[in-house]
Amino acid sequence: MEHEQKKVLIFLGPPGSGKGTQAKRLSQRLDLPHISTGDLLRENIRAETDLGEKARDFIDKGHLVPDDLVINMLFERISRPDCDKGYILDGYPRRVSQADVLQERLSDKDQVVALNLLVPDDVIVERLAGRLTCRNCGYVYHKVYNPPADPDRCDKCGGEIYQRPDDDEKVIRKRLSTYKEETSPLIKYYSEKDLLVEIDGNKAPDTVFSAILELF
Ligand SMILES: [Zn+2]
Repeated sequence: MEHEQKKVLIFLGPPGSGKGTQAKRLSQRLDLPHISTGDLLRENIRAETDLGEKARDFIDKGHLVPDDLVINMLFERISRPDCDKGYILDGYPRRVSQADVLQERLSDKDQVVALNLLVPDDVIVERLAGRLTCRNCGYVYHKVYNPPADPDRCDKCGGEIYQRPDDDEKVIRKRLSTYKEETSPLIKYYSEKDLLVEIDGNKAPDTVFSAILELF
């Protein structure tokens, strides 16, 4: 009997590329779990699992959570039955060493696709630097695409609207350059294995989603 092939879809793309949104939509369409390592970390900490408690120790001391802890959380998650047909990864791997560990765990039969969403820096800056957040309810507006009726007050709750320090243009450009430095070896890694697919992310979300769906 033939074993079912697992689909392992890896979303790559800078902050603001829309990869989280696209990954969630694809997860619903293909009925594969969407696994974000950021969410996974928060869930483990909230549920006070052994791994979560260890992670909390590092965070409380102001340290980064070490790779092997994140990998253990991830491997525990993908060993659950809902991942039997495959899964969608968002935020992992970030480095070649992490990609190697993942690759070792997969079988040759599994279908691995690394999707890289390409969006020009200036577009990302425009998307992110235009964001305005309500201090009270956390709702996110955009100066151009979704402005509040009153520039200083939240439409939903009347709370004060401000720009998060993370959404400052200089901070965004710095994050983008760090992201590129970190992930360019990873892009090369998947490209050399012939597992990389590049998608133009500088389009309307529905158009981007259709382009992604065509792959499956
Ligand atoms: Zn509000």
